[in-house]
Amino acid sequence: AKQDSRGVFRFFERSLDAAARKRRQLELDLREALQGGQFRLNFQPIFDLKKDRIGGFEALLRWEHPTRGNVPPVEFISVAENTGLIIAIGDWVMQEACRHAIAWPDDVRVAVNVSPLQFRNSGFANVIFQALSRSGLAANRLEIEITESVFLDGETMVVNLLHQLRAMGVRVALDDFGTGYSSLSYLRSFPFDKIKIDKSFINAVAEDPSAAAIVRAIVDLATALDMETTAEGVEDREQLAELRGQGCSSIQGYLFSRPIEGGAVVAMIAGPMSA
Ligand code: C2E
Ligand code: CA
Ligand code: CA
Ligand code: CA
Repeated sequence: AKQDSRGVFRFFERSLDAAARKRRQLELDLREALQGGQFRLNFQPIFDLKKDRIGGFEALLRWEHPTRGNVPPVEFISVAENTGLIIAIGDWVMQEACRHAIAWPDDVRVAVNVSPLQFRNSGFANVIFQALSRSGLAANRLEIEITESVFLDGETMVVNLLHQLRAMGVRVALDDFGTGYSSLSYLRSFPFDKIKIDKSFINAVAEDPSAAAIVRAIVDLATALDMETTAEGVEDREQLAELRGQGCSSIQGYLFSRPIEGGAVVAMIAGPMSA
């Protein structure tokens, strides 16, 4: 029995080694990706249901690896976070998103995902300041998307920084709303401009009465707090009809459009559109 458990232990040790090696290789590849220009941004439109037009685009990071091909963010964002590389990558995303958005009409915003580590890094306010001044983008055309996990530690510092960014004119959205543990309490910490309702609720909103009730409660709450709402992951007309009926401010999802290349954004804004 002793021998067996040692064998099992060695097996785990070996597979841990393999996992660690894989992570290490991914880290090296990420560094190379940043230096070698393998990253680019795609943009997914956010359709404003009240104004009946595209209100903005969310920047989504894409990595085209020379041999691995397209690596999705779920496979590398956490590695970038664990190695601290997310700070340099996030800096690049911020600059690049603002650089794109300056070419769009004035009434179209850009939304940028900000990881907790990046947000809490001491240089973050300066990263935003630099991205805005280099691109010439007005601060109120930039919206940062943060998740409640940013508040887990040092809530006072986080709230202070949010107020500082707001004072610059930057908008703040609370992303993936409803998936965390204590989302409601954070709504009292800071007057977010927008709540993004997680797609896990939207998936079921047309069929499942409890999902519909939760979405309704979120929209009503946001309205009472003078915050906008975006429904994420809207894929069909039934979901759209339900969300429209509930007074949701905007929708994002494959129904309206998948994320598109940066070069296609201006044509999409100019083209015929409806939701
Ligand atoms: P997220 O911020 O919740 O972004 C929305 C994700 O949902 C995107 O996946 C988008 O392509 C996908 N999506 C949009 N509409 C639909 C739909 O109708 N159906 C379905 N099934 N999915 C839809 P993506 O681009 O793979 O990004 C995944 C996550 O990676 C993002 O989730 C975000 O957390 C993270 N991420 C992406 N880009 C960045 C970035 O520049 N910085 C940071 N820190 N995180 C990023
Ligand atoms: Ca997001
Ligand atoms: Ca989200
Ligand atoms: Ca998400």
